[in-house]
Amino acid sequence: MLVLLERGVNESVASDIATRLRMFGLAVHRTDHEGQVRLGAVGEPGRVDWPAVAAWPGVASVTRLPAPFKLASRAFQPHDTVISVGRCAIGSPQLAIMAGPCSVEGEQQAFAIAAAVARAGATIMRGGAYKPRTSPYSFQGLGEEGLKLLRRAADAHGLAVVSEVMDTQQVALVARYADILQVGARNMQNYSLLKEVGHAEKPVLLKRGLAATIEEWLMSAEHVLSNGNAQVILCERGIRTFETYTRNTLDLNAIPVVKELSHLPVIVDPSHGTGIRNKVAPMARAAIAAGADGLIIEVHHDPDHALSDGAQSLYPEQFDELVGQIRTIAGVLGRRL
Ligand code: PEP
Ligand code: MN
Repeated sequence: MLVLLERGVNESVASDIATRLRMFGLAVHRTDHEGQVRLGAVGEPGRVDWPAVAAWPGVASVTRLPAPFKLASRAFQPHDTVISVGRCAIGSPQLAIMAGPCSVEGEQQAFAIAAAVARAGATIMRGGAYKPRTSPYSFQGLGEEGLKLLRRAADAHGLAVVSEVMDTQQVALVARYADILQVGARNMQNYSLLKEVGHAEKPVLLKRGLAATIEEWLMSAEHVLSNGNAQVILCERGIRTFETYTRNTLDLNAIPVVKELSHLPVIVDPSHGTGIRNKVAPMARAAIAAGADGLIIEVHHDPDHALSDGAQSLYPEQFDELVGQIRTIAGVLGRRL
C-alpha cells in the first residue's frame, strides 16, 4: 500500500506513522521528494484497517500499489532515482559512461585500459574478477588479485569501479574494492544473491537475464529494494531470441518501457547485446537516443589476445570516437556527459 503523508508533515509525525505501520507486521519503505513523504507498506496488508489508517493525523491518502513490483514502481516513487558514484550522478541528466575490459587480466592490461577509457571520458571502470563462463575450461577471473588491480588502475585515473559478484560469499569482498556491485545476467534470479546485495551498502548494477521478461527483471530489482538497498541500476544487455547473427538481441524497447514503469536508472550494455565489435557503436548511439541513462562498454587495448570477449571489445580509438558521438547525441537530448 502507498501511504501518502500530508505535504510538509512534521518529522516526528511521519516517523510515528511508519512505526505504527510496522507494528502491523508490514515492512515500511520511505521516499521523500520536495517536502512530500511517501511510505510504501509492503507485506500482508490484508490484516490492516486501511480506512482507519487514512484517517490518521498526517496521512493524506492510502492507495494500493498496483504493480507486482511495488518499490520499483513509479506509483511508489514518481521522481527518478539518482545514484551518486564517484563523479557521476546515475539517473540524472548526466550520462554514466562505464568502460573497461570484460575481465581483469593483469597489471599492465588494467592500467593501459584505465588510462584509455579515462582519457576518452568514462567515469566508471568495468572489469570482472569473478567471471561466469559458459565453459569451465575458460579463464575464470583473477579473483581478489583482480579486484586489487582494478581498484588501483581506476584510482590512478580518477575512475569509480563496477565489478561482478557471482556468489553470496563474495559480496563483502567485492564491496571492499568496487563502488558498484554487478549482478550478472545469469544470476538475475539468484534470490539469495539478490538478498545479500540488498543488505550491502553499495549500488547494484542488475543485468537483465538472458530470458527474462521486463516484469521478471523488475521483480528481481524488487528483491534488492525490499531488502533495504534503494540503489539499483538496471542494465539491458540483450536477450536470447531465434536470431543467430548477433550474440544476443539488444532489446531497446525495454528502455522506454522501464522508464515509464520504474524510477530506477537504466543503462545499456551494447557489448554483450550484440557480441560483435562493429555493432557496438551503432547500438550504443541508439540506446542513448532511446533514453538510456548510460552505457557499459567493453574496451581492450589488445582484443585479439583478450582472455574473454575480445570479439566484442572496442579498441581504445573506437571508444574515444564513440564517446564523442554520445556527447553530441546527449546535447540534442538536453543531457551531458
Ligand atoms: C560481463 O559483464 O562481462 C558479463 C558476463 O555480462 P552478462 O552477465 O550480461 O553476460
Ligand atoms: Mn564480457
